[in-house]
Amino acid sequence: MIPQVQESDYLYSTPKSFSTRAIHTGQHAEQIHGSVNVPIHLSTTYKQKAPGQPYSSFDYTRCGNPTRAALEECIADLEHSNHCITFSSGCAAMSCIINICKHGEQIICCDDVYGGTQRYMRNFTVKNHGIEVLFVDITDPENVAKAVTEKTKLIWIETPTNPTLKIVDIAAVCKIAKEKNILSVVDNTFATPYLQTPRDLGADITVNSGTKYMGGHSDVVFGSLTCNDKELYDRLFFSAKSQGGCPSVFDCYLIMRSLKTLELRVRQATKNAYIFAKYLESNPLVEKVIYPGLPSHPQHELVKRQQRGGGAMISFYVKGGFEETSKLLKALKIFTLAESLGGVESLIEVPSVMTHGSVPADVRNQLGITDNLVRVSIGIENVEDLINDMEDALKASH
Ligand SMILES: *Cc1c(COP(=O)(O)O)cnc(C)c1O
Repeated sequence: MIPQVQESDYLYSTPKSFSTRAIHTGQHAEQIHGSVNVPIHLSTTYKQKAPGQPYSSFDYTRCGNPTRAALEECIADLEHSNHCITFSSGCAAMSCIINICKHGEQIICCDDVYGGTQRYMRNFTVKNHGIEVLFVDITDPENVAKAVTEKTKLIWIETPTNPTLKIVDIAAVCKIAKEKNILSVVDNTFATPYLQTPRDLGADITVNSGTKYMGGHSDVVFGSLTCNDKELYDRLFFSAKSQGGCPSVFDCYLIMRSLKTLELRVRQATKNAYIFAKYLESNPLVEKVIYPGLPSHPQHELVKRQQRGGGAMISFYVKGGFEETSKLLKALKIFTLAESLGGVESLIEVPSVMTHGSVPADVRNQLGITDNLVRVSIGIENVEDLINDMEDALKASH
C-alpha cells in the first residue's frame, strides 16, 4: 500500500553545501571562551570608548546585535544574497518592503497571495498611504506585461501559492520587471531556500516567514528578507530600523539552531509529501490532489525547472461536501487540526473556514477554495503512519 519511490522522483537537484553553510556561515567559535555556539547577546546598548566611538559596529540593538548579525549572515548565504534583514514576523518583513513605496506609486501583486499580505495592502497601502495595488493572476506573465504602467514600482510574487499551489514563473516575471526598472519580490516561505533560490532567477528581494520551515518546530514567529544590491539594502534597512519590527535575540538563536537541520527536515518532509500525494491520488474517496511534485500538476514542468523538489504542502478535494470533510478531520489521530505549516509535525486544515475564511465567498469559489478542499502540511513523521491515519479517517468519514 505504501508507494515505493526513488530520490530522483521527488528531488530534482540539491543546492551546493547547503547544510555546511547553514551550520557554519556567520557562526564562528566565540573568541573569549571558545563557545561553539553563537552566544545570546541580550544587551540592548553598547559602551563607547569615547563619544561616537563604539567598540564594534553595534550601538543599539534595534539597529544591530551580534547574535542577530550572525543569523543574518547565514540566511543571506542560504538565499545566495549579500544582505539580510531579520524581523519579528514574516508580516513585519513584508510591510518593511511595501513601505519603501511612495504615495501615487503602484504595486502589482499576485491574486492568490498570503492573506496577511493582502490585508496589509488593502487596508494600509491603498487606504492610508495612497498607493495603488493591482491584484493580478501572474501565473500568466503576459498579464504582468499588460498591467505595468510608468507608476509601477514593485511586483509581489508568491510561489507556490496558498492553498491552491499555483506556480509563478519567477524568471519570466522578473525579466519583465527588470526591463521596466521595477523591483521584484518573491515570498519564498513555502519552498524555502533549500528548494528554491529566487535571486538566481532574477528576483531583487526574497522574503520568508521563518515561522514556517525555517523555524520548523512551530515555536517561533520570525521573518527575514534578503537582497543583493547595497543601495537597495540601505533603503530597506532604513525602513526596518524606523519601523522597529526587529526580532528578539532568543528567537534569533532558535532560528539559527533550526537552520542547521533545515536540509534534513525539508528533504524528509518532501519525500513524505511525494509518497503521501501518490497515496491520496490512488484513494477513491479523494476527488483531486494538487501537489507540485506530481506529474498531474498542470505546471509540473515549470516546477521541475524552477524548484529542486515539490515541497511538503499538499491540497486535495475530498469526495462529498463539508460534512464528509469535517468528519475526516475529526477522525484523524496523528495529523493535528490547526492553521500554519512547515513544522516537524503534520498539520491539516480546511482553508474555506480557517486560513482563508476572511476571503469573500465569490473570490474563494473563483480560486477553487471550496468546503471540501483540505490543505496539509506534511511533517517528518513516519509516512506509513501518516498514510494509515488518513486511510482510517477517510473510511470513517464516508
Ligand atoms: C505565514 C506566512 C506569512 C506571514 O508570516 P508571519 O510570520 O505569520 O507574520 C507570509 N507569507 C506566507 C506565504 C506565509 O505562509
